[in-house]
Amino acid sequence: MLYRNSPRPRAAFRLVAALMFAVVVAPLAPARQTTQKLVVPEVERLRAHVTYLASARLEGRRTGTQGAKDAADYVAAQFMMLGLRPGFPGLMNVGGEAHKMERSRSFLQNFPYVVGVELGKGNEMRYRTEAQPLASDAGVSLRVGHDWMPLGFSANASLREVPFYFVGYGITAAEQNHDDYKDLNVAGAVAVALSGTPDGDNPHGRFTRAGEVRFKAAAARAAGARALVLIASEEDFGREPLARLSYENAGGDAGLAVVVVSRRVAAEYLGLNVAEAEKAARTRTQAAADPQAAALRQFRPNGTLDINVEVRRKNAPGINVVGMLEGSDPKLRHEYIVIGAHYDHLGRGGRGSLATREGEIHHGADDNASGTAALLELARLLAADRERLRRGVIFIAFGGEEEGLLGSNYYVNHPAVPLEQTVAMLNLDMVGRLRSGALSVSGIGTAAEWREWVERHNAGWKVELKAGEGKTTGEAAGDGGKGEAAAAPTNAQAAGMQDSTAAKVIVTGADGRTVATAHAAPRFNLRLNEDGFGPSDHASFYAKKVPVLFFFTGSHEDYHRPTDTADRINYEGLASIAAFVRDLVGQVQASDARPTFKLARAAATARSTGFRVYLGTIPSYGDSTDGLKLDGVREGSPAEKAGLRAGDVIVRLAGRDVRNVYDYTQALSQMKADEEYEVEVVRAGRRQSHRITPAARRQ
Ligand SMILES: [Zn+2]
Repeated sequence: MLYRNSPRPRAAFRLVAALMFAVVVAPLAPARQTTQKLVVPEVERLRAHVTYLASARLEGRRTGTQGAKDAADYVAAQFMMLGLRPGFPGLMNVGGEAHKMERSRSFLQNFPYVVGVELGKGNEMRYRTEAQPLASDAGVSLRVGHDWMPLGFSANASLREVPFYFVGYGITAAEQNHDDYKDLNVAGAVAVALSGTPDGDNPHGRFTRAGEVRFKAAAARAAGARALVLIASEEDFGREPLARLSYENAGGDAGLAVVVVSRRVAAEYLGLNVAEAEKAARTRTQAAADPQAAALRQFRPNGTLDINVEVRRKNAPGINVVGMLEGSDPKLRHEYIVIGAHYDHLGRGGRGSLATREGEIHHGADDNASGTAALLELARLLAADRERLRRGVIFIAFGGEEEGLLGSNYYVNHPAVPLEQTVAMLNLDMVGRLRSGALSVSGIGTAAEWREWVERHNAGWKVELKAGEGKTTGEAAGDGGKGEAAAAPTNAQAAGMQDSTAAKVIVTGADGRTVATAHAAPRFNLRLNEDGFGPSDHASFYAKKVPVLFFFTGSHEDYHRPTDTADRINYEGLASIAAFVRDLVGQVQASDARPTFKLARAAATARSTGFRVYLGTIPSYGDSTDGLKLDGVREGSPAEKAGLRAGDVIVRLAGRDVRNVYDYTQALSQMKADEEYEVEVVRAGRRQSHRITPAARRQ
């Protein structure tokens, strides 16, 4: 042949030949058109998917809303049109019982989700002076919604005549050597705290994390308080952000009553000059011996509080959409490759939004209509090739990602086929802003084969056609073409081909003029990361020891803002990423052995937690109110050495009860490296005790 030293001569030949056939030969001999239809990602289809999903009609697709439901229905309808198999048996109600119906399968998988919180009827708060403790209606009744408000994650509670103490900002931050509860006994009492932190509005202050209300609640609980009363930061209670009854699904119930009171109530009934108290509490962190602060620590008005909290959580299911293609290799057909992308976004803002004001639609074109559109195109490409699939492919559009990976976490615990049969998970999240070809691929360290495969398929060819007057350029994969040009080689040979340099192919016509040139050029400027954890749905699979790859074109100034719109998407780039993922799926299909799972090195740039110690636990992202469930433990970590494992629910750590991730974090912040602590877990319904020795965190 004509090639010499070309790294991938056959592929290059096929590619150039295919292009020649299409451009040069086909117009001359239409009757000899190719035998195999070329199915490639189409820019206009991607644009149509993104445009619909990111349209104002779907109102930002927040989990639990009609917009998210419409988006899920759209994906399910696409799956149906492509002939995918629904992921789950349908449910039919017979005599009041749900029966699984294999014949009426469903693409939709519901998972529990709290869409909102509302007040029940029993919300009462009463202030009593010591002179009027007995009669039940004595004292001053504070009006809910006007004088005070429970927080969405407050436990329901009924407290009577409980003394209260002022605890400054109510922050315990061992890493900052700061404890507002030091020398203060609030056991069985109500802790009254200022909102915010001594840092004021500084987002990079010392107490940014410890100052979050969830951590304040955990600190109050750890100190034995029965309720935490926060003092509003806004003078006008109607504008107080804490009074908005919002709920974070990943966090769970606080385990004690948490309410916010107006500044007027604090002043009139709790006897607190808020501005003075703020000043004093701030000074205290600077100079521990400040005399005014010392005086405040003795603060104890003569009175008690009754607090009745009743919050009702409204459930609206979140939805995953799951469709499948079955494999046909007798040995491999029970194995599956999962391709996933979340379709949910932030609705009209609120939690997770970076918008400066609330209420505007967050279109989420890049995050993550882009990945959802690529998922749909991949389903179309692979469905067109379904007879040749050796392993099955499961396509999943996840809900609840923005709320804390809720949908993917639910799926890995309730999979369409047993998770051991899933050999790899490929996740597309924010793939619509390809710039200068820079594509981030994470999870490279989660399978022994990934790096080689990803780099191999990133090798491509830049083709320049010189047929006719017009000069066209195109890019293509080295070997992604799978017989796309079955009839082409003879034509290419007839035209004559020659090769001059190692990575360049020149095609000449019968008249000796150059028809096309192709030279080696990578498809993407890849940024490879080892870690399998990260802020998207692949983390749920990696935690279950499934090899993962996560494709991402990087953050930008429209991230989590209303301006993430469909017109700002790079659709050609999106198509090229879909083609790349298709080729990697083809590579996994071609391998007889499944990708070999590996525990990846954690990224060195992992966000600094500020903790001094490290346990190596992998907490589950799901909602929990009765302990912290573990998805796994890191290899060689203190947690593993202590005998903890996936599925364990931590209920007590270092002498503190743990109901949720905030309690856990609170306990962790108090621990010291190389000292032994007790950790209690519930495993298979039984409570058991382990000894754990934290390691020092390497910063
Ligand atoms: Zn997002």
